[in-house]
Amino acid sequence: MTSPASPKPEVVTRFAPSPTGYLHIGGARTALFNYLYAKRYNGKFLVRVEDTDRERSTDEAVKAIFDGLSWLELFADEEPVFQFSRAERHREVANQLLETGHAYRDFLSAEETGALRDAAKAAGRTFESPWRDREPTVDDLSKPHTVRFRRPVDTGVVVDDAVQGSVRWESSSLDDLVILRSDGAPTYNLAVVVDDHDMGVTHVIRGDDHLNNAARQSLIYDALGWTRPTFAHIPLIHGPDGAKLSKRHGAQAVHEYAEMGYLPEAMRNYLARLGWAHGDDELFSDAQAQAWFDLSGVGKAPARLDFDKLAHVNSHWIRLAEDDRLAKLTLDVHLARGHELGPNDEALLLRAMPFVKDRAKTTLELADQTAFVLKPRPIAIDEKGLGLLAGESGERIGRLRDRLALFASWDVFALEAELKVFAEDEGVGFGKIGPATRAALTGGAVSPDIAKTLAALGREIALGRLDDALQQTK
Ligand code: GLU
Repeated sequence: MTSPASPKPEVVTRFAPSPTGYLHIGGARTALFNYLYAKRYNGKFLVRVEDTDRERSTDEAVKAIFDGLSWLELFADEEPVFQFSRAERHREVANQLLETGHAYRDFLSAEETGALRDAAKAAGRTFESPWRDREPTVDDLSKPHTVRFRRPVDTGVVVDDAVQGSVRWESSSLDDLVILRSDGAPTYNLAVVVDDHDMGVTHVIRGDDHLNNAARQSLIYDALGWTRPTFAHIPLIHGPDGAKLSKRHGAQAVHEYAEMGYLPEAMRNYLARLGWAHGDDELFSDAQAQAWFDLSGVGKAPARLDFDKLAHVNSHWIRLAEDDRLAKLTLDVHLARGHELGPNDEALLLRAMPFVKDRAKTTLELADQTAFVLKPRPIAIDEKGLGLLAGESGERIGRLRDRLALFASWDVFALEAELKVFAEDEGVGFGKIGPATRAALTGGAVSPDIAKTLAALGREIALGRLDDALQQTK
């Protein structure tokens, strides 16, 4: 009788940060890869906070990590797991390993361990505690001790990594790992294996700095008779110069990228390309990334952070973003810069947005380029601008003002056409009109071309500013 094929387990991935600081850009990329892989296979993406190191883990870091993930919109499919709260379960599994002979109690003191380790090193041997082969007496059992995993010594361990390929370790290169400290606290590799198993994790996608842990963890899986997950160790991110990413390369924390004016969808697009490729595609949507992402597209060479590329990706997503969202984000930048804002400012920014969003690489640039619309009347005109508005040129601006006042439609294309006709009627090139008009409309600030500047300001404000300027230069 043939039994029906058992269904393939659902894909479950996880991001397992240690809460000891902000969400690092490398961590964000790891989270994204796990997220995309889960979505690709209609699986689950989970988050586990690895807070077993009580001295280094902080509540602020937990908050910073979740803030970073929320900003990137990488939401887990279940409530997060906090590793420390599972210590009892980790001890239970350590006891199971003791019972099956896959672990042993080690009664060496820290000093004794240190001395034996030094001696083994000097002799070119792997350190091994004598307790590996020694049965403790009842008396011994009451004394403080650690619990060590008993690695198999006659075989090596092979990990078939989805990115690195098949990697082999000889047992001589591994030692008998402490899985419970003398105070009963479980150690990292045990906790990770137990949690990944209990959470049903099928794919462990993480930085290749954890590759050696995969060897140790695989041995623990084998000893427990548990199925190993698929490991995928992705190369770390390097700086533009090819060196390991560090502070001197600039921003490391995800929140700094938010502050630098990048959009979360641009960060997701850019981070997905850091170490993964789908042909030559550089600009793609979340839906495309979720449909395309696979471990076969992850490269073995470290990806380099490239700020020009990031700016390019960001400007693409700014162009596609809704104007009202951009107006809100731009308002936040003005606020963060300490500008005093008026009740209409969001509406003013919204009106200006279509005329500036094509040229901005970040929301900080959107703020730079929209500063002119927020100035209250009358605006101050700089020295150079006043010069441009003197004499004949000022009179011409007066005539332009009167023409525009009769202009019913305030559409950018109509304005552009009208400006052309006006220049022809005046018998001058647009160079004689543009700079003076800009000075009157903006005071000399950065602004798009004149038709767009007029459209961005709206009829009432634009005419008002022209009046104010003419008043000032009379
Ligand atoms: N907590 C580890 C870290 O933040 C990750 C462990 C893992 O992904 O297995 O580096």
